[in-house]
Amino acid sequence: MKFDVVIVGAGPSGCISAINIAKKGYKVAILDKDEEKSIGYRTGGGVIKVDTFSSVGLPRSQGKELIAFLDTFNIYSPTARTKKTVNHTAIIVDRLLMNQRLLQYAKEAGSQLFSETQVEDLLIDNDFVKGVTTKDDKVFHSKILIDASGFSGIVRKKLPHSFNIENEIDNKYIAKAYVELLKNPNTSENYLNSYLAVDNGYIWQTPTEIGYGSLDHSIDLKKRLHSFIDEHKLNVETDSNYTSYGAIAVRQNIPNMVGNGVVIVGDAACMISPIEGAGITTSIRGAKLASDIILECLEKNDFSQSALWAFNVKYNRTIGANLAYMDMLRRGLIGLKPDDIDFAFEKEVITAKDVLDSITGDIANVSVLDKAQRAIRGIRRPHILLRMENCMNKSKELKHHYSNFPDNPENLLKWIEKKDKINNSFY
Ligand SMILES: Cc1cc2nc3c(=O)[nH]c(=O)nc-3n(C[C@H](O)[C@H](O)[C@H](O)COP(=O)(O)OP(=O)(O)OC[C@H]3O[C@@H](n4cnc5c(N)ncnc54)[C@H](O)[C@@H]3O)c2cc1C
Repeated sequence: MKFDVVIVGAGPSGCISAINIAKKGYKVAILDKDEEKSIGYRTGGGVIKVDTFSSVGLPRSQGKELIAFLDTFNIYSPTARTKKTVNHTAIIVDRLLMNQRLLQYAKEAGSQLFSETQVEDLLIDNDFVKGVTTKDDKVFHSKILIDASGFSGIVRKKLPHSFNIENEIDNKYIAKAYVELLKNPNTSENYLNSYLAVDNGYIWQTPTEIGYGSLDHSIDLKKRLHSFIDEHKLNVETDSNYTSYGAIAVRQNIPNMVGNGVVIVGDAACMISPIEGAGITTSIRGAKLASDIILECLEKNDFSQSALWAFNVKYNRTIGANLAYMDMLRRGLIGLKPDDIDFAFEKEVITAKDVLDSITGDIANVSVLDKAQRAIRGIRRPHILLRMENCMNKSKELKHHYSNFPDNPENLLKWIEKKDKINNSFY
């Protein structure tokens, strides 16, 4: 079967790509291994930014899809003794209903869905990706193939080395996650609690669920979550019938997301906020940027890496730069001892504004006076301020570097080398 664009994966990033490309009249196939009615199902709700859909020109979540509004983020230290409360709005959505709505839009726009169709291999000819083959021996030919297969990154893993795309995501960046639904969810409540740096990960709690994600794979997540609940007497009762495990890449997105005839979006490209482990909003926005560039390439009939490169530039200089900044701040914070985080929170060495900036990716501009006041407040533990200041500077340097992402593939390796140097200069 021949298509202009073949999309592997009908999650949020696959659907957004399909909607945008199919509505311009191109022939689009979306392939997903799951049966149609369960595409998008996940235990637990998705916390997404309020403007997620309006920012890509789609109607917002409503009715049963919209579970709750959140506006109070409580960021706790790992001991749960101290916290910073920030006002930051978000919504919780029913992931299945949200995904099914997007799938419906994609079909209405003219894309063809092939459910229960598991992609296994790529068709590559003369250093160009030309399509995929499936477990049941179907062949889909494409001008451009989109990898929207989520964490599995089935296409990314098989791309030729000549594209300079990271095929594998190092285990050290992979957080294993575990979630349990609450027995008596109260959706009129509006909080998101986040317990930082709990054994190399973090615990989140919303009015509907509680979960734990950690980079330490030796931890029994369920056991640790429950010991934390007991230890800190959290007022939650969970439903053991609704639990699930998953995986999230906690890192900066893969720098190069395009090759000849191929584009990678969403979790497959690690488009995830490293602070919150949230990837729906960033994947949706990433997929919109990618599909805009793909449309330009289809128009020009040029599917080469050089033609698709504009997507790398657009994403890395904006969303990627913000996520990289957040990633560095995350590293700064979790590198502190639990007791130091309590001290920093109590003495306002780390302020609520700093925490908010780390969630939004805004650059924190700390005045000289503010720095002096923080130094006085943190005088008993000067290493905290030193670390956070160093971290802030490195975060800004990294963000700046991302905003200079190279205009062409030839300068990629040099850019990556400098990125790694900045990352490695902070521990
Ligand atoms: C426990 C947990 C909680 C999370 N909570 C949140 C949250 O609250 N907010 C948030 O923003 N993010 C959250 N995330 C992250 C979020 O799930 C992802 O960032 C988001 O789903 C990425 O969308 P995507 O379209 O790239 O991939 P996915 O949603 O993973 O979609 C990929 C699709 O590809 C299909 N597929 C995979 N392999 C193949 C194959 N070989 N052939 C055909 N089809 C294939 C899959 O069936 C799937 O439908 C959470 C993740 C986990 C693990």
